[in-house]
Amino acid sequence: MSALSPLTSVARFATRSTAFQTKRFLVQAAAAAPRLDRPSSYKVVVVGGGSAGLAVASTLSETLGKNAVAVVEPADIHYYQPLWTFVGSGLKTLDESKRAMKEVMPENAQWIKDSVASFSPDKNAVVLANGEAITYDYLVVAAGIQVNWGKIKNLPETLGKNGVTSNYSAQSVEKTNEFIKSFKGGNALFTMPSTPIKCAGAPQKIMYLAEEQWRKANVRSQTNIQYFTGLGKIFAIDKYANQLLKICKARNLNINYFTDLAEIKPDTKEAVFNVLAGEAKGTTLTLPYDFLHVTPPMGAPDFIKASALANADGWVDINKETLRHNRFNNVYALGDCSSLPTSKTAAAITAQSAVLKSNLLSDIYNENRDAAKYDGYTSCPLVTGSDKLILAEFSGYTGQPQETFPFDQSQERLSTYLITKEIIPEIYWRSMLKGTWDGPAKYRKLFGTN
Ligand SMILES: Cc1cc2nc3c(=O)[nH]c(=O)nc-3n(C[C@H](O)[C@H](O)[C@H](O)COP(=O)(O)OP(=O)(O)OC[C@H]3O[C@@H](n4cnc5c(N)ncnc54)[C@H](O)[C@@H]3O)c2cc1C
Repeated sequence: MSALSPLTSVARFATRSTAFQTKRFLVQAAAAAPRLDRPSSYKVVVVGGGSAGLAVASTLSETLGKNAVAVVEPADIHYYQPLWTFVGSGLKTLDESKRAMKEVMPENAQWIKDSVASFSPDKNAVVLANGEAITYDYLVVAAGIQVNWGKIKNLPETLGKNGVTSNYSAQSVEKTNEFIKSFKGGNALFTMPSTPIKCAGAPQKIMYLAEEQWRKANVRSQTNIQYFTGLGKIFAIDKYANQLLKICKARNLNINYFTDLAEIKPDTKEAVFNVLAGEAKGTTLTLPYDFLHVTPPMGAPDFIKASALANADGWVDINKETLRHNRFNNVYALGDCSSLPTSKTAAAITAQSAVLKSNLLSDIYNENRDAAKYDGYTSCPLVTGSDKLILAEFSGYTGQPQETFPFDQSQERLSTYLITKEIIPEIYWRSMLKGTWDGPAKYRKLFGTN
C-alpha cells in the first residue's frame, strides 16, 4: 500500500470532516421535522412544480424510475399563466388556465407538498418550511419569479377594488375583465415596471384588448388611454417594437417612458409615478385614474436571494449555455428564477428544459458532459386584438428574431392569434408538462426558417 501524501491526508480529513458535519446537520434537521412516510433522499430534487419544474421532472422521473425524483411544490393548483391575458379580457375563463397539481404531477415523481425554505448546496440538501432536510445527488431549481405586490404603496389593499386590477394574479385577473366591461370612460392607465418581469409583453397586451372592447362599447371617444413603462422602449426587439409603436399611434394610445408606478391613492383615485429619466428625473407625476391595470415589480425569490446559489442580483447563478450552476456542479436551474439573460417566458422554458434534461442525464450517465447548449430562444405572442397577434420570437442573447413560420411575424395575423389562443395551450397540457415538447426548433428546420 502506498504511503499517503500530506495533501491526500488533508483532503481525506476534510472529506471526513465535511461528511461528519453533513451527518450532524441531517440528524439535527430530522429531529426538528415531522416523521413522514416517504424517503428524504432522492437522485434529483426539483424545486417548484410550475411550467419549468414539471417540464423537467416528467422526463427525469420517467427515465430514472419511481421515487428517484422529488418535486417540492406547495401549491394545490397549477396555472398556465399565459392564458391570463385572455382571461383578463373575457376571451377564456380562469378555469381553463388551471389544473389540480395532483393531476399534472408526473406519476413517477414524489410530490413533496411543502416549500423550500433554504438551500445547503455544500451538504447537497434543501430544508423545507417544516424543518425537514431533503438530500439529493442533483438539484434543479425552478421556483419562478417573486411578484412584489407590496412595493407599490397601497396596491395590496386596493387590488380588485374600484377599477384597480392586475392580470398577474389568479385572484385579480377576472376583475380585469369585470372592470373593462363596466368601464364608462375616463382615464385608463396601464403600467409596466422597470424591474425584470415574466412575459414583458403582457402589460401592453391587455391595453390593446381593453381599447378594442371600449371602441366596440362606444366609450372610446370619452377615454384617455396611457401606458406607463419604467423602461425606455416599448419592446426590447426593434422589429416588433416598430410595429407596436405604429399600432399605438393609430389607436391613440399614449406611451410614457421611464415612469415607474410607486403609489396608489384609493381615496382620490390617483396613481403616483416616479420619473426615472429626463429633465423631470427624481420628481413624481400624479394622475387620476378610472381604470388602472398594474404590472407589479418583480424580482428573485427571497429564499434564493439569501442562498449560496444566488448571483449578485439574487437569481440562481447558472451558465447561460449549459444551465449548470457556476459554482455547484450538481445544481441546475431554468425558467423565471434563473440568471439566464433572456426574457422570462414559458416559451423560453421549452428550449431551456430540453437543454437541461440532456445535460443532467449525460451527467448522471457519465456521457458527453455539457454537450447541449441553450441559445437564448424566447417568444412573446403580442395579442393586439381579439383576432390578431404579432408573434415575437427571438434570441435574448443576440437580440435577433428567431421566427418559426415562413412569413413576417411582426405583422398582425389571425393565424398566429389562433395558434396562441387554441393550439399552444393544448401543447402545454398534453406535451410540455409531459416533457415531450422541446419548442419549435424542429419546425424552424422544417420550414427552412432557421
Ligand atoms: C399575465 C401573464 C401572461 C403571460 N403570458 C405569457 C405568454 O404569452 N407566453 C409565455 O411563454 N409566457 C407567458 N407568461 C410567463 C410564464 O407564465 C412564465 O414565464 C412561466 O410560468 C415561468 O415558469 P416557472 O416554472 O419558471 O415559474 P412558475 O410557472 O411561476 O412556477 C414556479 C413554481 O414554483 C413554486 N415555488 C415558489 N416558491 C417555492 C418554494 N419556496 N419552494 C418550492 N416551490 C416554490 C410555485 O408555487 C410555482 O408553482 C405570462 C405570465 C403572466 C403572469
